[in-house]
Amino acid sequence: MVSSSIAATDNKHHAICIPYPAQGHINPLLKLAKLLYHKGFYITFVNTEYNHKRLLRSRGPHALDGLPDFKFETIPDGLPPSDADSTQDVPSLCLSTSKNCIVPFSNLISRLNNSSPEIPPVTCIVSDGCMSFTLQAAQQFGLPEVLFWTPSACGVLGYTQYCHLVKRGYTPLKDMSQVTNGYLETKLDWIPGMRDDIRLRDLPSFIRTTSSDDIMLNFLLNEAKNIPEGSAVIINTFDALEHESLKALSAMYPHVYSIGPLNLIINQIQDERLKPIGSNLWKEESGCIEWLDNQEPNSVVYVNFGSITVMSAHQLTEFAWGLSNSKKPFLWIIRPDVVVGDTAMVPQEFVEETEGRSMLASWCPQEQVLNHPAIGGFLTHSGWNSTLESICGGVPVICWPFFAEQQTNCRYSCVEWEIGMEIDNDVKRDEVEVLVRELMDGEKGQKMRNKALDWKKKAEEAVEPNGSSYDNLNKLFKERLLFA
Ligand code: UDP
Repeated sequence: MVSSSIAATDNKHHAICIPYPAQGHINPLLKLAKLLYHKGFYITFVNTEYNHKRLLRSRGPHALDGLPDFKFETIPDGLPPSDADSTQDVPSLCLSTSKNCIVPFSNLISRLNNSSPEIPPVTCIVSDGCMSFTLQAAQQFGLPEVLFWTPSACGVLGYTQYCHLVKRGYTPLKDMSQVTNGYLETKLDWIPGMRDDIRLRDLPSFIRTTSSDDIMLNFLLNEAKNIPEGSAVIINTFDALEHESLKALSAMYPHVYSIGPLNLIINQIQDERLKPIGSNLWKEESGCIEWLDNQEPNSVVYVNFGSITVMSAHQLTEFAWGLSNSKKPFLWIIRPDVVVGDTAMVPQEFVEETEGRSMLASWCPQEQVLNHPAIGGFLTHSGWNSTLESICGGVPVICWPFFAEQQTNCRYSCVEWEIGMEIDNDVKRDEVEVLVRELMDGEKGQKMRNKALDWKKKAEEAVEPNGSSYDNLNKLFKERLLFA
């Protein structure tokens, strides 16, 4: 799809791509790496040892063999070695990657530059925006580095406001009672690119702390501060959807490229060589698509809270009975580690009650699911990939945001894009039932579905020739990646 092409192989461009080591970051960066490969780049994709082992387990022993010019490498994440198969603790991982990964990453670049004539020297770094320690390596080796921020543009815009929120005294909070006593309803009418009725609670959640030493608050403050050090910022979104946020970001940073939805772009290029390269850390359970094939169009509620969200056993039970009482068919993906400190178990009576109209599984091919005609709505944690994939499938959402910029995505889904309804964090079965019925049968649900279909069309237009993302991608190649 990208019009310009790279010439000689003897001085082939070599991009080293490094995601933040979590599912929602690996997926979009792998897509971008595939695009670069398709354009003729040599690719080194860097996973942590922990995730590398998980990928081998979930996808089979040859899953990371790569291709002659598309190789996987690993670095340690700095946490104690583990063979566990679950999501790592986010603050520990942020702290550890930012402190411990620079040395192995720089060593890897040195090794790649000196290993064999078949491997061209590294010519650019494509790094997750939340791995900005890599900028030190860019400086050391004199390489350009583009920072790929995997959240929505509105989410990234939220993170860029953290320094102002600290300066203006909004965060750290005085005490944690402010989370529930109405303080988070405070409106912020001074954020460029956001409506003047945006509330503190709509901003990425790491401001909900009382400690100025809070790991996540400081981590994001620092990563946002480093944005100008990169030669460009890439965001997996499209202009029609996030025009105002992108405009505000472009006023702060001169080289912002919105190049999404990357899932649509990847589907367009149809490069058979790349098909076997996948990034699911959990093994996909077979049978979900076959089950959907036997359901009526637009009839199924899809429930999935992504790779990091956790909840209490009580919350899981409330969701279960809400779904049961809605009497709608549903596909519910329950990660084995979704319940804090416990194995995820739904009540036996619920299983019996919903037998015949439900499917429970532990992981699924989500993009395929969201594009299946049987899916009528999505109960989601509002992770950015999930939100964008839902938009690409034309599927309206019920939002139950967990953390990070999911709060912002929820607000934008409900207010700006009009594709969503929010469910209270203190989830109750009756509310689940009412919202699921509204989503599937109600007037509001239908309006949201129509709106989601409009956005789907606009997303498709963005990646077609002369579409905004299509053009931005070409500009990114020419202006930031090929000149190296
Ligand atoms: N995903 C998947 N199967 C599942 C659950 C999630 O393939 O059963 C993928 C999903 O398509 C998305 C990613 O995992 O690309 C989750 O990213 P998101 O930003 O939505 O949420 P996070 O997991 O980072 O909270």
